[in-house]
Amino acid sequence: MENIFLYTDDLGPEKVIEIYDPTTGLKAILVVDNVAAGPSIGGLRMAEDVSKEECFRLARAMTLKNAMAGLPHGGGKSVLFGDPSMPAEDKERLVRAFAYAVKDVADYITGPDMGTNEAMMACVRDVNGRSVGLPREIGGIPLDEIGATGFGLSIALQAAQEFSDLRLTGCAVVVQGFGSVGQHAARYLAGQGVRLVGVSDSHGARIAPDGFDVAALMAHKQAGGNVADFDAGKTIDPTDLIAVECDVWIPAARPDVITEKNAPRMNTRVVAQGANIPASAAAEKILAERGILVIPDFVANAGGVICAAVEYHQGNETQAMSTIEEKIRSNVAAVLTRAADTGDPPRTVALAIARERVRRAMAFRRTG
Ligand code: NAD
Repeated sequence: MENIFLYTDDLGPEKVIEIYDPTTGLKAILVVDNVAAGPSIGGLRMAEDVSKEECFRLARAMTLKNAMAGLPHGGGKSVLFGDPSMPAEDKERLVRAFAYAVKDVADYITGPDMGTNEAMMACVRDVNGRSVGLPREIGGIPLDEIGATGFGLSIALQAAQEFSDLRLTGCAVVVQGFGSVGQHAARYLAGQGVRLVGVSDSHGARIAPDGFDVAALMAHKQAGGNVADFDAGKTIDPTDLIAVECDVWIPAARPDVITEKNAPRMNTRVVAQGANIPASAAAEKILAERGILVIPDFVANAGGVICAAVEYHQGNETQAMSTIEEKIRSNVAAVLTRAADTGDPPRTVALAIARERVRRAMAFRRTG
């Protein structure tokens, strides 16, 4: 990706900053996509295999997500190249170096993402004063600890019941990626009588047609265990998780996991996108042709950023949860109603709604 202007369009991105700090070895990229609605909020992702292109796409996803949720914030994203399981002090050094490097980018507010957490956001705030998803001790609403995004996914699925033959009670769910989003989605859905029949993390996958004990699996993970060594169900090849029979399949790990190649293997009625950009356009087309309802990422997984925005504007946890419920319920209803009226896929409809909101916000900006 040499010429970044090849990637610009009517919405952005406004800034792309590549960062190298020879003292700490920090290598990172920040993309501020669009700030018409307000300063951008977006996560800091840490992984060894992140890329500039991934950062661009994730920043745009944040613009759309924040617009869809009606937040007074634009979209941005940052990626930090490194192994997230490196020793804690090394990781803190890199995150602090990142926060220092972006201290003058006033229109970017850092949030947690894969490989970073509340404690890292406290470090960012300590250095540059602008982060969300903070620990309770410093006035934050720890969005991963309370499961804001998982809660939002469960609300999205509740709302989808009105527009499909999905009934959550007794239905079978598969979750790919049993981290913050996956665990809390499973927890909230289990509270509604759903069976978790398939699950994976980066170390392996397991199935249990009668359903896993979600609380026990969460405790196992939080004690440092992996899905593969949990003592219930049976191990499967992670690439076969895509084909496990279920009613709802939730991607909650990496981008691009549902592809043109594996979409025909899916054996579900609904895909509720917890991860950002988990499916290619071609894959979603195949799913639509097969009658599989897709609730797009930037509609279904907005719980975390809604929580972050409530925190940023000094709201409390109760307000965050009720705002997530109200916004996601009404957005899913708006998208699925228009999709039913027009026959367009939910993503097409949601993109049109979100882009229109961004363009209306842009119309309020000074042009000269
Ligand atoms: P996390 O780091 O807490 O968990 C990610 C999980 O995915 C881990 O269990 C990891 O082992 C697993 N994983 C990684 N690669 C995998 C693979 N190839 N196959 C199966 N499992 C794999 O991250 P998270 O916060 O839960 O975020 C998960 C996804 O949801 C990301 O795409 C993130 O951008 C998106 N998201 C997160 C939030 C949030 O509030 N945390 C909000 C919106 C979207």
